[in-house]
Amino acid sequence: MSLLVVGTVAYDAIETPFGKTDKIVGGAASYIALAAKYFYNNIHLVSVIGDDFDQNFLATLKKEGINLDGLQIKKGEKSFFWSGKYHNDLNTRDTLDTQLNVLADFNPIVPENAKNAEFLMLGNLVPAVQMNVLKQMSKRPKLIVLDTMNFWMDIALSDLKENLKEIDVLTINDSEARQLSGEYSLVKAAQKIIEMGPKVLVIKKGEHGALLFNKTEVFFAPALPLEEVFDPTGAGDSFAGGFIGYLAKTKDISFENMKRAIIFGSAMASFTVEKFGTENLINLTQTNVDERVQEFVNLVQFDISLV
Ligand code: AMP
Repeated sequence: MSLLVVGTVAYDAIETPFGKTDKIVGGAASYIALAAKYFYNNIHLVSVIGDDFDQNFLATLKKEGINLDGLQIKKGEKSFFWSGKYHNDLNTRDTLDTQLNVLADFNPIVPENAKNAEFLMLGNLVPAVQMNVLKQMSKRPKLIVLDTMNFWMDIALSDLKENLKEIDVLTINDSEARQLSGEYSLVKAAQKIIEMGPKVLVIKKGEHGALLFNKTEVFFAPALPLEEVFDPTGAGDSFAGGFIGYLAKTKDISFENMKRAIIFGSAMASFTVEKFGTENLINLTQTNVDERVQEFVNLVQFDISLV
């Protein structure tokens, strides 16, 4: 049994009210894999980079036990680059630059030993590439989770809609849910999006937590009120990594277990935002993760007796 993670491995340049970085390592697949590995240790990564990419980071991924056989390194080409600037509330950001570089003609190749993965995380990436990966699987995974963003809704909506018909869980943020559905109410938006294909929808709301919908039920996970938030980049991906990592570990894809999984996802996101880039995710211990999850439990546990 394994977890296959597909997405960008990238360079990011980030500006927040607390500082600015030059090119640092990021990318959806980096955050997803690093978060998932706290729960599950048979992870394969499919992505593409140029030969300008940081070798130390690749060594870190390998050291963490992430299988990089599906990571293509293109000689003489540049890695995907994204740059963004956060507004003062840290919940909203503007994309300043997206340079596809190696992503422009990426032809993913799923390694033989990952084609039967039971858990597939299609991280934020060109929708046609996500579909290409899905088609290479030798059998349908037990669970397919897909993450995407407004950028792809703007330029590749029809491909994205094809993907939605094939997946189990979609994770997007609140403004993307409104864009995709054309509805302002998130409840109506969720109903419309579930009609497009996914059985379950996660709507991420930054510091206001996350909502989990299926056709008839809704569940809410808060975000932890943190003293220090430096950089929200990768929060959504770390969330997705914690979510699918926990489901893979427990092998239980029921809605009840997904309620627990979004708490673990929220816990991983909370670590990511405390520092710039992937730094905080790399150095955690299992105790750090357990204690953080306990903080979530304490935050929302209350007794009420209704008479
Ligand atoms: P998140 O903050 O969770 O939405 O993820 C941020 C990460 O997504 C960054 O590390 C970027 O490298 C990556 N990213 C930004 N734009 C795109 C895009 N259009 N496609 C794929 N990945 C992207």
